[in-house]
Amino acid sequence: MGTQELTTDIIRAALASIPGPDGRTPLPRSGSLSEIVVHKGKVYFAIHVEAARAAQLEPLRLAAENIVRGIPGVEGVIVSLTDEKPAGATASTDNRQPGPRARAATTKAGVPGVKHIIAVASGKGGVGKSTTAANLALALSQLGHKVGLMDADIYGPSLPKLFGLSDKKPESEGRTLKPLTAYGLKLMSIGFLVDQEAAMIWRGPMVMSALQQILREVAWGELDILVVDMPPGTGDAQLTMAQSVPLSGAVIVSTPQDLALIDARRGVTMFEQVAVPVLGVIENMSYFICPHCSTRSDIFGHGGACTEAHRRGVPFLGEIALDMTIRETSDAGKPIVATAPEGPHAQAYLAIAKQVAESLAAPQRQPPRIVIER
Ligand code: ADP
Repeated sequence: MGTQELTTDIIRAALASIPGPDGRTPLPRSGSLSEIVVHKGKVYFAIHVEAARAAQLEPLRLAAENIVRGIPGVEGVIVSLTDEKPAGATASTDNRQPGPRARAATTKAGVPGVKHIIAVASGKGGVGKSTTAANLALALSQLGHKVGLMDADIYGPSLPKLFGLSDKKPESEGRTLKPLTAYGLKLMSIGFLVDQEAAMIWRGPMVMSALQQILREVAWGELDILVVDMPPGTGDAQLTMAQSVPLSGAVIVSTPQDLALIDARRGVTMFEQVAVPVLGVIENMSYFICPHCSTRSDIFGHGGACTEAHRRGVPFLGEIALDMTIRETSDAGKPIVATAPEGPHAQAYLAIAKQVAESLAAPQRQPPRIVIER
């Protein structure tokens, strides 16, 4: 009924009223505009700038966002400044060379009100990173800290499911979004904001801008610790994130198998490269207790992550059993630390959380005490 379909041409036309990074040439003709993605009323693009001018050009980013937000039919807009070249037609999100190792971090300012941001990372998917991040955040909260959990796993956000919030949407207050809450945690996930298909087509700069937005445009309030569930892997996107989020430290989750350990090693190296302290390694699905006979077996070759952590000179934080109740509680949106806090698994997460909190509190960030359960 008279409403025009939202197209990239309409957006480019609106952006023509803004001068690009040189202050003269209209933005669409400045050579600095990335591809524009429009998906269900949401608009995503990046503006290529030199890293050194990123802070100075923040008003340009804001102006671009504001002008697009005013276009009829636009429900949301995410614009980021990037010092990547505008994405080529075939650029993929990960594994592009050269990686961002050579780039300066464009936005590494802290998040107001948030004392520490820690990353929970894994060298590959499926090792239980998100389950661990959720239970670690809950355990830190039970220790008396004010905790937030940010799901930055853009390609497979699992926080909505882990907390039984899949049908929930965060409310917005002006430019800021209010985090959801569950079991005393403040929660935000890219999964609350966009649908999976949209995230899958994003390129590196768009991923970054979405994450920066979650980090900075969510009303986190006062937090002692914000736990960030990172995307799995050690590709370009992960490295850029590790570099641009002001992290106090990182926790690496691994299973004990050889292959996972190789990936975990890459994870340690990645954080070392960007000078983020590795707070330690957690061995997940470490051992198995038979539900019938209670016999413990090390089906995946228990202990590998501990050995690997020691080899790399990083702390080993503890091990979590492979147990159906961990899976079932996660799948049911009732994480085990919240719903069975006295049980052995919750206690294992709590022991790990204590070490993480201690190491964040230590002035020199001393390696935490090493706990090896045998
Ligand atoms: P990732 O974030 O590494 O991809 P998830 O946390 O999504 O991994 O876990 C993958 C699957 O393994 C989920 O079904 C989860 O419930 C299950 N899982 C994670 N940790 C454990 C564990 N310690 N014991 C049993 N199942 C687990």
